[in-house]
Amino acid sequence: MQVKEQDRNAVELSSVTKRFGDVAAVDDVNLSIREGEFFSMLGPSGCGKTTTLRMIAGFEHPSMGEIYIEGVPVAGVPPFRRNVNTVFQSYALFPHMSVAENVAFGLQATHAGTKAEIAERAQHALDLVRLGNYGKRRPRQMSGGQQQRVALARALVNRPAVLLLDEPLGALDLKLRKEMQLELKNLQTQVGITFVYVTHDQEEALTMSDRIAVMSGGKVLQVGSPAEIYERPNCRFVADFIGQSNFLQGQVAEVGPELVTITIGENGSGLTVRSPRLDGVQTGSAVTLAVRPEKINLSRIADAHETSSNGLNRAVGRIKQAIYMGTATQYLVDLPGAVSLTVERQNGGNAQHDTPSYKDGRLFAPNTDGGRFVEHEEVLLEWSPAVTLLLEK
Ligand code: ATP
Repeated sequence: MQVKEQDRNAVELSSVTKRFGDVAAVDDVNLSIREGEFFSMLGPSGCGKTTTLRMIAGFEHPSMGEIYIEGVPVAGVPPFRRNVNTVFQSYALFPHMSVAENVAFGLQATHAGTKAEIAERAQHALDLVRLGNYGKRRPRQMSGGQQQRVALARALVNRPAVLLLDEPLGALDLKLRKEMQLELKNLQTQVGITFVYVTHDQEEALTMSDRIAVMSGGKVLQVGSPAEIYERPNCRFVADFIGQSNFLQGQVAEVGPELVTITIGENGSGLTVRSPRLDGVQTGSAVTLAVRPEKINLSRIADAHETSSNGLNRAVGRIKQAIYMGTATQYLVDLPGAVSLTVERQNGGNAQHDTPSYKDGRLFAPNTDGGRFVEHEEVLLEWSPAVTLLLEK
């Protein structure tokens, strides 16, 4: 068999398309998943992530393109001959078998060792998922989270090169899901097996993954670390799907060596914003800007002086709505030109500025009292051009 020598990817998809009739469920996808990586495929329902996973597992076959596992093309290789295992959302345990028998089942079916060796490996897999003392129980005597751990032990017991996980925590309640997220990540680090994880839950993907592929409409839009995907989304879909973003429509007024100046709102109605330059953007281009709510500072009016903005983007607005959310408060702020921005500030005594700011002849005091802003209050908004993402329209 042909082994690709140039890399050590656990899984590679090369121009893979999967059609169901007229629908391209997966559309010309290229992915390189590294050995030992926790890799997530993230996207809304119907974006093609499960179909991609099922093609890696061998349950579906690409209409076009090639899949490699450990460098070897796997077209025509049946699922049970691929060095992968799958964990599904439904645990699919055998109810009439004990937990230990469930875990040992695959090893027994393939005569993977003596009875004693198989029992020892099953015990080791159960120890890994912290169920070492539960081997004699039946699945129905276990909680949902415990049953999912048994399913994990069963998938890990023959030490596949790659573990494929299809929304494995989807059936669990929120608190248990959060516990299991950390547990899964620790387990993956401990066993060193490549995990390919499918989820529509962005928080889950951000918490656990080394890298994430964001998918939409059968295509991979962006691949990157959680921080890259969150801080540097490459398109509006990713900026919108991961976390929360303010989107501003505008027109490029000036292209400088490093920064681009954009006028926002109808007929450039007052607000001017700078962002890092993007290749190919020209004066007069219509663009979209994205700013995360937590990247915007707020301060309140206190006096009347004018000073420099220190290069920050600034605007004066009025708080339309304040929504208390426990650890943070979200403010909907109206700006001139029918523009509004959502701003999120942490609650509790932290100063948001060290120094006062000035705009339009007025001083905006730092919010050092830890107090929250109130509805109808006039406020200064400031955010760095560096966190202002310029997205092509
Ligand atoms: P979900 O999170 O809802 O499972 P997904 O991102 O995993 O969604 P897929 O299950 O991969 O999406 O489906 C992608 C597209 O392919 C959808 O439009 C779906 O309806 C279609 N599809 C999937 N499997 C089949 C099939 N066996 N026959 C026909 N269409 C299919």
